[in-house]
Amino acid sequence: MARNVLVIGAGIVGLALAFRLRQEGAEVAIVDPEPPGEGGASFGNAGAISSSSVAPLAMPGTLKQVPRMLLDPAAPLHVPASYWLRAAPWLLRFVASARPDSVARAAAAIDALQRLATEQHLELAREIGAPELIQPRGNLYLYRGAEQVKKDQAAWDLRRDYGARVEVLDRAGITGLEPEVGPAYQVGVFLPDHAHCASPHRYAQAVAEAFRRAGGEVRRDRIRALTLADGRVTGAQGEARQHPADEVVVAAGAWSARLLAPLGYRIPLETQRGYHVNLPGAGIAISRPVVPADRKVFITPMEGGLRVAGTVEFGGLERPPNEARAKLLYGDLAAVFPQARTEGAEGFWMGHRPCLPDSVPVVGPSQRLQGLWFAFGHGHLGLTGSAPTARMLAPAILGKPTNHDFAPYAAERFG
Ligand SMILES: Cc1cc2nc3c(=O)[nH]c(=O)nc-3n(C[C@H](O)[C@H](O)[C@H](O)COP(=O)(O)OP(=O)(O)OC[C@H]3O[C@@H](n4cnc5c(N)ncnc54)[C@H](O)[C@@H]3O)c2cc1C
Repeated sequence: MARNVLVIGAGIVGLALAFRLRQEGAEVAIVDPEPPGEGGASFGNAGAISSSSVAPLAMPGTLKQVPRMLLDPAAPLHVPASYWLRAAPWLLRFVASARPDSVARAAAAIDALQRLATEQHLELAREIGAPELIQPRGNLYLYRGAEQVKKDQAAWDLRRDYGARVEVLDRAGITGLEPEVGPAYQVGVFLPDHAHCASPHRYAQAVAEAFRRAGGEVRRDRIRALTLADGRVTGAQGEARQHPADEVVVAAGAWSARLLAPLGYRIPLETQRGYHVNLPGAGIAISRPVVPADRKVFITPMEGGLRVAGTVEFGGLERPPNEARAKLLYGDLAAVFPQARTEGAEGFWMGHRPCLPDSVPVVGPSQRLQGLWFAFGHGHLGLTGSAPTARMLAPAILGKPTNHDFAPYAAERFG
């Protein structure tokens, strides 16, 4: 049994894991320079719990999309010219990940991790005393017509192969669920087993509070380096202090690869920058996330109003947000809800999705260094994958028997 565990990064992945470790009896501290849930993507994501989203981002046909990604600043996924060189190695791996064997491997790994995500989030929300935060009302994808659905057919088939309930709806079916959806969208795909979080920020805070109440320690510090002795990790050196620990978990989202580089890890972790805007007075009532599939944007009912979140932009961790990119969200909203009001919109927010080229997160033990564990790289599905990652990883860290195979999630798969 581990005496004490240090979790680096208080996003939803680190928090869910820290809470679970504490529940299972470990001494746990979580460390982040920012308050829990405020330093990264977990603050402002779209809130969808997408348990059946097993299709990786790179699918057969991805190569054809690359020219538009590179050249069209309004494409759902855009790489600005000034970032082409930096992004090239990652993009090459991404395109290679679209091979059928690689897609099959990724889908199996994603499914094994998150197929019970809805149930596991409902359970976590109950445990932390905030059951209202997880709403099991499904997600609704929208298409302009049957032709457009065909473009995503491979991804829908893959979900079905893994047992997902996928219900195709006509226009009456769409308005039966969400009466306010505008006439541009004629075909719907309803995923009844998905859910959403009514406030990702409050969720992270509530997990942190429950963790504290259970005796966990939340520390404010920025980790500079992991510390080693005799081939094992012994803790981490922060700006403010040393953090000794028996077991160290790197759960620092898009910043994780930087912490691991001095240990010889070359992990192709790239941020895919996304944006949101909150509309407290949109005048639209919806019950679940609505996703116009052509625009890769989620429109989610949240505690503070409607949230429009999405778009994918390369550009690294340091560049300032690109307001032109964020403003595209208004067009996305108007396409689905032409009647939506945007007055009173809160300022744009940008977050860093921690993305690996094969869409499979890095979860499990280091194969080289004792005492080192990974929980990062959940990309577009990190809220979804957080509670499942905690369930999968906590027993292993504590040396308890577990039947999970961590090989598909290994950091070492990148060489
Ligand atoms: C616009 C947008 C919409 C999204 N929508 C969804 C969705 O609907 N559903 C879904 O499942 N996912 C969604 N995601 C993805 C999801 O938000 C992320 O995958 C998830 O939040 C990642 O969580 P994390 O805890 O790994 O990282 P983060 O939340 O980014 O947290 C990492 C933490 O590490 C800390 N850190 C960094 N460096 C250090 C250091 N040196 N020392 C200590 N701490 C450090 C940071 O301060 C930060 O708090 C979306 C993302 C975006 C941007």
